[in-house]
Amino acid sequence: MLIVMQPNASEEKIQKVISFIKEQGFDAHVSKGENQTVIGAVGKKVIDKRNIELLDGVKEVLRISSPYKLVSRTFKPDDTIIDVNGVKFGGGYVGMIAGPCTVESYEQMDETAKLLSSYGVKVIRGGAFKPRTSPYAFQGLGEEGLKILREVADKYNMLVTSEVMEVNQIPLFLKYVDILQVGARNMQNFNLLKALGEVRKPVLLKRGLSATIEEWLMSAEYIMAGGNREVILCERGIRTFEHITRNTLDISAIPVVQKISHLPVVVDPSHATGLRDKVAPMSKASVAAGADGLIIEVHHSPETAVCDGAQSLYPEQFKELFEDLKALAVVVKKQFN
Ligand code: PEP
Ligand code: MN
Repeated sequence: MLIVMQPNASEEKIQKVISFIKEQGFDAHVSKGENQTVIGAVGKKVIDKRNIELLDGVKEVLRISSPYKLVSRTFKPDDTIIDVNGVKFGGGYVGMIAGPCTVESYEQMDETAKLLSSYGVKVIRGGAFKPRTSPYAFQGLGEEGLKILREVADKYNMLVTSEVMEVNQIPLFLKYVDILQVGARNMQNFNLLKALGEVRKPVLLKRGLSATIEEWLMSAEYIMAGGNREVILCERGIRTFEHITRNTLDISAIPVVQKISHLPVVVDPSHATGLRDKVAPMSKASVAAGADGLIIEVHHSPETAVCDGAQSLYPEQFKELFEDLKALAVVVKKQFN
């Protein structure tokens, strides 16, 4: 941390700041310029920088070391490749996850899995517990939905991801799914994150609706600090003043996060845009920007989908897009698997 004193701050004020940071367990390294002093506070302790900003004579406090440790490239310089039973995300491998917003019935999932697996998709998605804005909207089939997912996935030799909403649902999810998804609305459910730290299965951590990149990475840090090193980050659009799209896809988050962190970053263009015709261009943009995977909503009959039909691709549309994306990945020296 660097503490920049106000120009011409008195020696007494400087000494008070030095004493304060030493009392907090930091070493102080003082650099005196012609009319301004900068104090470097070095230590492992965590301190709220506002406590220093409030001291007399302090102009500003700059944090120079990042608050996240395990997710950062300082801790692990090489890309983390998350291998989910043979399907890889990261380090040159791009993973594809596709499926409907929610599990509606066995027939729906069977039809979807049959088509998607014939296109080469290896991971199927579908919510069984749905975080809906309205309490009157369809809340998901619950355990029945997870059972259906597992059954069709096994039938077509696929893997499963689904959203876990509460700590007490984790044992159930461990029984049925291969990747536990944390939804945008739960990104800062710290009890859930801590509990997922104890799990030994990959977690797909979506970015919160209004979360900064730093907050998102800190949530990943929670999971990793608990001992679970398999975190896949998912950019799914953030809330902005723009309302034509459901959210605003932050494409720049992909290279920004990849520079800071070794964890794979996948993109959800469906929830990011909310509009079917925007899913293909945003998927291509994501792969071009270096995404390590995509999670795309596909429904065999979007018009009759229980939720998110407007952003769900028709199977044939998805098939064509997937072929284009495979070709595009080669250009950025990556490959779908
Ligand atoms: C989902 O993927 O089903 C979902 C609800 O997405 P998000 O949490 O990103 O809104
Ligand atoms: Mn959805």
